[in-house]
Amino acid sequence: MAILVAGGAGYIGSHMVRLLQRQNREVVVFDNFEKGHREAVAGIPFFEGDLRNKQDVKAVFEQFSIDAVMHFCAYSLVGESMERPEIYYENNVQGTLNMLTAMKDHGIRHFIFSSTAATYGEPVSVPIDEQHPTVPTNVYGETKLAVEKILDWFDTIYGNKSARLRYFNAAGADPDGDIGELHTPESHLIPLILAVALGEREHISIFGDDYDTKDGTCIRDYIHINDLASAHVLALEYIQTKNESLLCNLGNGSGYSVKEIIDVAREVTDHEIPVETVGRRPGDPAVLIAGSDKARNVLGWEPKLYDVGTIIETAWKWHSGKAREWQR
Ligand code: UDP
Repeated sequence: MAILVAGGAGYIGSHMVRLLQRQNREVVVFDNFEKGHREAVAGIPFFEGDLRNKQDVKAVFEQFSIDAVMHFCAYSLVGESMERPEIYYENNVQGTLNMLTAMKDHGIRHFIFSSTAATYGEPVSVPIDEQHPTVPTNVYGETKLAVEKILDWFDTIYGNKSARLRYFNAAGADPDGDIGELHTPESHLIPLILAVALGEREHISIFGDDYDTKDGTCIRDYIHINDLASAHVLALEYIQTKNESLLCNLGNGSGYSVKEIIDVAREVTDHEIPVETVGRRPGDPAVLIAGSDKARNVLGWEPKLYDVGTIIETAWKWHSGKAREWQR
């Protein structure tokens, strides 16, 4: 029996696949390669299909013997979600519902869902624990929260068990340097900073230095992609052995400002990384730091690559190496 990794050719999904393979688990990838990379699934069984197409989703369960699903297929750009809400509802909500319905029809009861800190909205208390109110300030967070609610009802009505994992800022790359983050266009802070260090961009724009934080720039909780993936395995074991659904933040519980990240990247890359301060990006809360006690206490999760220098080193190895081969 295999674990289906939906979106397994994307950034988070490909690291998940890598970890499952290292643990000798059987894996099947479902991806439409709209955002994902074929290079990421070389040698891995995959089904090329689109979540929005019910026939595709049904077919993967007919073709392979699957006993759990880890679901990473989603649109995830906050700005885009505020311009084209309909594609976010269609892909993130309707698409996930197609997956859940096909799972139900095939008697598959365990589902790991990538949710987001964006479900919380503007924090009223920091660190943000799982009891924090959920008032998303953008359509992306709203679509993830909508799925979380569907999962609650699928548990109540069908007894399907799920883990809803609310990610903070996934970052870094597999230390081997073979896979990593590669979006087109890129909008995330660390890959953009590293593109400056590679001479592909002239400067990094700092989106606002007038926040109420220690240096005026936004603070985020960066979690290494492999630590994120390891929590998924623990979450799957939890819902399978306890026969209980789970809601859990995934972050390290410590925050770094945009300026601090740039400083660390300067050290790692030995490049001056010029900056330009521009206006705030709409929808950016000043501080997002996870309360991570639940992941540690309930799942026994221990992040290993929590040092932000290590996170950026792994990203640098990827961006200054294989990533540019993939782009060609
Ligand atoms: N950011 C920035 N310049 C950029 C991209 C991002 O200053 O070119 C800031 C952004 O405002 C946020 C942090 O970096 O405070 C992390 O942004 P990213 O897009 O990487 O992740 P997000 O927090 O949106 O999930």
